[in-house]
Amino acid sequence: MGARPAPLLIFGAVFAAAFVLAALGYFSLRRWEAAAERQLHGQARDTAAMAAEKVEMAVVRAEQDAIAALQAAALAPDFGPAAVEAWKARNPLFNAVYVLDRQGRVLYPVGWTRDEAALVDALRAEISQGFWDRGGRRHVEASGHVILAAVIPGSARGPLLIGLRRDDQALHRDILKTALGGTEGQGALAILDGSGRPVFSSRPGERGEPVLTVPFGEALPAWRVALYQPDGLSPRDMVRRQAMIFMAALALLLVVIAGGLVATYRLVHRESEIARLKSDFVANVSHDLKTPLALIRMFAETLEMDRVPDERRRREYYGVLTRESERLSRLIDNVLDFSRIESGRQRYEIAAGAVEPIVHEVVESFRHPLHQQGFTVDVAIEPDLPDVPLDGDAMKQALANLVDNAMKYSGDRRHLRVAARREGGGVAVEVADEGIGIPIAERERIFEKFYRIGRSETQGRRGSGVGLALVKHIVEAHGGRVTVDGRAGAGSRFTVHLPGVS
Ligand code: ADP
Repeated sequence: MGARPAPLLIFGAVFAAAFVLAALGYFSLRRWEAAAERQLHGQARDTAAMAAEKVEMAVVRAEQDAIAALQAAALAPDFGPAAVEAWKARNPLFNAVYVLDRQGRVLYPVGWTRDEAALVDALRAEISQGFWDRGGRRHVEASGHVILAAVIPGSARGPLLIGLRRDDQALHRDILKTALGGTEGQGALAILDGSGRPVFSSRPGERGEPVLTVPFGEALPAWRVALYQPDGLSPRDMVRRQAMIFMAALALLLVVIAGGLVATYRLVHRESEIARLKSDFVANVSHDLKTPLALIRMFAETLEMDRVPDERRRREYYGVLTRESERLSRLIDNVLDFSRIESGRQRYEIAAGAVEPIVHEVVESFRHPLHQQGFTVDVAIEPDLPDVPLDGDAMKQALANLVDNAMKYSGDRRHLRVAARREGGGVAVEVADEGIGIPIAERERIFEKFYRIGRSETQGRRGSGVGLALVKHIVEAHGGRVTVDGRAGAGSRFTVHLPGVS
């Protein structure tokens, strides 16, 4: 009982340590989450800014090329609507072109709608005299459209103001797709127009709240690049996953530690039990040796002093001497064999032989004590039993141990049955008694070394606890096995199953 608190204390300490570890793990994961969030944000900002720059550059370059082409056309003396039409066919990025001269006359388009008239008016209003003089390009918002305005000098009609309106579909097809098509990364990238409507998405179909948005330069005013984080990839999701893995690993570790502790505890417990059994064994063996020795000595002294006049009595005393010395040598053989088995030195000389004479010899060697203690014995040996692999002396010792036990653990019903029968190609030898029996739960353990059933009726009998361990070892060395049945209070039956000669 005194050993109880120690394992509990160890378990407590392990679980406390695991708790501290879990708490530390949790806090460091939270810190990691914040750092990952910051890093991801930084990366997302870089990606978005790069995309914005790429698109802006592509747009500006396309615009420059288009203006240069129109400027080249304007230099021709026959520049007119037909030349603009030809230019339009080659520059599908723009779906509307306006060409005005310095006086504000509209040279192209030749006829226009009301909407376009408003747009041209807005364009005129936006362009100052300074712009005419300085030249250059700028993006102008007119009637809800972004118009690229540029002054091109040197035409036959003097400087011309051109207004180019981009076609969103062409922009998507020719610029956004090419500029952003290869954008790789964890997130989805989208371009939102002035009203927040997506005009382009690197992963169409993916929605959600954008992680961040970045504006374009003046080429695409009010447009923004937006980055979306796909489901399951946000730092929070990753931390949640990591935390689960961490907790699972911790739980596994705890299970392993707990398993290890239980195994160690059981091992230590078992070792101390074996140590206790060993010391019991020494006491039991000494006691076992003393009893026959005392008897031998007493009867020998009586005989020596010639105090037994009666010849019948004398013979009886000689019988006691023989019996007790046989018992003594069986006991010593058991202990010696057991120690040889323990040190791995025990060898058996096994050769094909008959079981019948061995059974008879063992029963015969117990004839006197059986008779004296009032046992009746049934011996039933089937005729024509096959030979089996046998070490005669070892098998005799095994059977003698079984008969000795049957006598030791019989109560008032003193009847033994020894039988040998054919079993498969081999032989089964049974030794059955009608004694105190063996509880089912103990059937395995009685074959362990030093093990004795801890009941008062067993403990009252002499024994060292190695007899059945020896029987098991001998039978198994013959390639066989030993089984036991019967119940507590209803006698026991030990059966030695020996295989045939192969
Ligand atoms: P022991 O020297 O104690 O007899 P064994 O190894 O021969 O040692 O037997 C182990 C235990 O098995 C015994 O202590 C006893 O409790 C039990 N046992 C063995 N044979 C019998 C039997 N025929 N009937 C009842 N119990 C038995």
